[in-house]
Amino acid sequence: MRSHTYPGNLYMMIGPSGAGKSTLLRRLIDEDPHLSFSVSYTTRAPRHGEVDGKDYFFIDRARFEAMIKEGAFLEWAEVHANCYGTSRAHIVEQLRAGEDVLLDVDVQGAINLKRQMESVVAIFVAPPNVAALRARLEARGKDSAAVIERRLKNARGEMEQMEQFDFLLVNDDLDRCYDELRTIVAADRLRLFRRRGLAAELLDHF
Ligand code: 5GP
Repeated sequence: MRSHTYPGNLYMMIGPSGAGKSTLLRRLIDEDPHLSFSVSYTTRAPRHGEVDGKDYFFIDRARFEAMIKEGAFLEWAEVHANCYGTSRAHIVEQLRAGEDVLLDVDVQGAINLKRQMESVVAIFVAPPNVAALRARLEARGKDSAAVIERRLKNARGEMEQMEQFDFLLVNDDLDRCYDELRTIVAADRLRLFRRRGLAAELLDHF
């Protein structure tokens, strides 16, 4: 999947579980008519309140493995002992139609996609500190104590990889962070290589 093959842009959000990625990306999807969320497939059990087809497509391991074989995933990874995969079909269809797509992926998935598509924009969302992350995971009340410990342990490893990405957001204030996220997407859409058609048109009529 090469960068300029499609008119749409791909954005991905990366960061430790509980850093606030989902809240930020949901808000952006709701407010931006040209951006759609790529619903991933997972073998993880749904958390309370999660909706199949909206938050994830919840499938079992056998189905997941069959999809790997069929080449249905643009990337997939095992995270916190569950499998997660990005649907190739949805993304290609949207990008071809000139629509932008926003992904929620882990560090491995982000690195993998960056390799496949140079122009993908990688936005890392970090919590301000480990105490805030723990407090958020506990307040969310969706994971057991053991799962929270595993997620906190993994968070350190994820933070160590943030240098590889394009933008860093620190989520100590959700509204400010959201404004920053919108600014990133707005500025990226104005990059000249994304507007080659317009640039050529301007020149033709000049
Ligand atoms: P959670 O179980 O909290 O929903 O997600 C756990 C981790 O899996 C998060 O870091 C999330 O970004 C990541 N994730 C969700 N969907 C995908 C995907 O399609 N591919 C990859 N590589 N990671 C994903």
